[in-house]
Amino acid sequence: MISVVIPVFNEARSLADLHHRLAQTLKETGEAYEVVFVDDGSTDGSIEILRALHAQDRTVRVVRLNRNWGQHAAVLAGMERACGDVVVTLDADLQNPPEEIPRLLAALAAGHDVAGGRRVGRRDGVLRRLASWAVNRVTSAVVGVRMRDYGCMLRAYRRSVVERIVACQEAAQFIPALANTFAGSVAEVPVAHDAREHGRSRYGLFRLLRLCFDLLTGFSLLPIQVVSLTGMLVAVLGLAFGLFLGLRRLIVGPEVEGVFTLFAILFFFVGLQILALGLIGEYVGRIYQEVRRRPRYVVSEVLD
Ligand code: UDP
Ligand code: MG
Repeated sequence: MISVVIPVFNEARSLADLHHRLAQTLKETGEAYEVVFVDDGSTDGSIEILRALHAQDRTVRVVRLNRNWGQHAAVLAGMERACGDVVVTLDADLQNPPEEIPRLLAALAAGHDVAGGRRVGRRDGVLRRLASWAVNRVTSAVVGVRMRDYGCMLRAYRRSVVERIVACQEAAQFIPALANTFAGSVAEVPVAHDAREHGRSRYGLFRLLRLCFDLLTGFSLLPIQVVSLTGMLVAVLGLAFGLFLGLRRLIVGPEVEGVFTLFAILFFFVGLQILALGLIGEYVGRIYQEVRRRPRYVVSEVLD
């Protein structure tokens, strides 16, 4: 059986079309299937449309979160309830064409544990694509699995991988990266990408930055290690500079002209210290979040 998990946040205008295209595609696969819509606190009447879909189609299940918990939390809520041997995720805004799902399934059938879509001819702005490129490089390095598109949520996972993802009790999660840490073999499948027809992307600059921070601090100690190394390097340089100044004083005698240079150097050090403090704070904050063990989302309604 195939489970399709779809996070929905104010996508009322694309849901009917999405359901139609999805049902068409899934029927053609000839397998049993279910579609789990997770309403992530929509306020535009998406839930009424989902209720109607549930009433007319018994393969449609709906999980409603009590407020907006974010895309990854919503996907997780759906994964926790999905029954399929294969779980496919995709966006509700029709930027991921449902017609590409069979190609992902074929990759799983070929023996891979995870099949990730790679958006070719991506229909997003230049800046967004540039940012994605950088994030993909860093994520690949940090996770240790090279992938060209970690941001694409059109993906298929084998049940064993989904179970391990769901078992992780971390508060902040980035599902594609997490899946790759558990998967034995990962395939990347080129998929089409369409422009958003209704509404606009929910990922502004700040939200994307937040996601990058989650990724980096959630999957590695790299930032803090880089800071420690830089700190060591700076300390050694400072020591050498001090020695140099001492020698110079012996040879040239006292000088005052260099005062401003010293200020510049001081600011450099102070900047580094603040940076280091910020990074330490980030990890401490994370530890705090983890020890609180707050729920990652709250379900208010389930239509099965
Ligand atoms: N989404 C969600 N909760 C959120 C933000 C987004 O469930 O807080 C869903 C949204 O409905 C869509 C998917 O996540 O199905 C991708 O969102 P979006 O299209 O805004 O992101 P982009 O395509 O720009 O990466
Ligand atoms: Mg989108």
